Amino acid sequence: MKELVVISGKGGTGKTSVVAAFASLAGNKVLADCDVDAADLHLILQPKTHSVHEFRSGNEAVILQEACTGCGACLVNCRFGAVKQTSGVDVEWMLRASAHACDDCDFCVRSCPNRSIDMIHAMQESYGDADRATFVIDPLSCEGCGVCVDTCPAKAIQFPERIAGEWYLSDTRHGPMVHARLGIAAENSGKLVSLVRQQARQLALEQGKDLILIDGPPGIGCPVIASITGATMVLIIAEPTLSGQHDFQRVTELAHHFQIPAYLCVNKWDINLNLTETIEKCAVQFGVQALGRIRYDKDVTKAQIQGENILEYSKNGIAADVRDLWQQVISAISDKEYVSSMNANMAL
Ligand code: SF4
Ligand code: SF4
Repeated sequence: MKELVVISGKGGTGKTSVVAAFASLAGNKVLADCDVDAADLHLILQPKTHSVHEFRSGNEAVILQEACTGCGACLVNCRFGAVKQTSGVDVEWMLRASAHACDDCDFCVRSCPNRSIDMIHAMQESYGDADRATFVIDPLSCEGCGVCVDTCPAKAIQFPERIAGEWYLSDTRHGPMVHARLGIAAENSGKLVSLVRQQARQLALEQGKDLILIDGPPGIGCPVIASITGATMVLIIAEPTLSGQHDFQRVTELAHHFQIPAYLCVNKWDINLNLTETIEKCAVQFGVQALGRIRYDKDVTKAQIQGENILEYSKNGIAADVRDLWQQVISAISDKEYVSSMNANMAL
């Protein structure tokens, strides 16, 4: 089994369009969309999903209102502003006021391990019959650090695993596909990418597929590392701009670092021939072979609007570029050994 990952130094270079077109050309394969932060391969391939699975990662704090005493320690101790007060005396105001009201007698330090709690209690008493304050935690702001859980004197904060997204097993008109969606403000996309690859590999083994065709994430961060480690080869899609040249260099260095054979294709090469040639020369210096060029063509957008890949929409021009590129990819990947990334990904 081989794994081909199509990546780029940044989003918007056309890698998903290339993967969608390759989906028509590759035979016995599983498709995987590892761009879990902004998945869009499904917009072209329109998969029919037959199983949905939760992706759990990290933890989030949840206040048990029946156990909470309203002391305000969680509000004071959360450095991410995730705790919100919903009723009762204004604890935040009291905290500000306490800076002026404090006589610096150190009574609170001597009598309580948490100076802030003691000050709040003192201020509450000084304000007479204040209502009990209530608090909630904003799940979008909670970073899952656990500080409030450890410091709540009433042990009123639970810390369940966070549902950070979903992953899907689907069928498309070009074969089975594994894809995912990271939740809003959720982290650990590298872990979800590893999960998608793992599931794609399992599916390929079960169904006797010999290729996993992966739409990789943009950039050079953790999700990209998770998508390329142990892959058979990466195809870098670059665009002929100055930033595109820089992005190409960065992502090539990343591929070299993880010893993944890397190849280049310049997309929309005809919008700037000079820069296309510069990037291809740069590729030679990095020991990266250019496998082809794809011209600029408005048909790409028209095809996307119709939910088709460029080969389904058009037979000539850019479609010929993509076919030529695929032939070069086949001959490049057939030389390469597959190295399972299972162990490398486990560490992420
Ligand atoms: S620290 Fe605990 S008891 Fe105090 S307000 Fe927060 S949840 Fe309630
Ligand atoms: S877990 Fe950390 S970030 Fe979340 S509410 Fe508690 S202290 Fe704030």
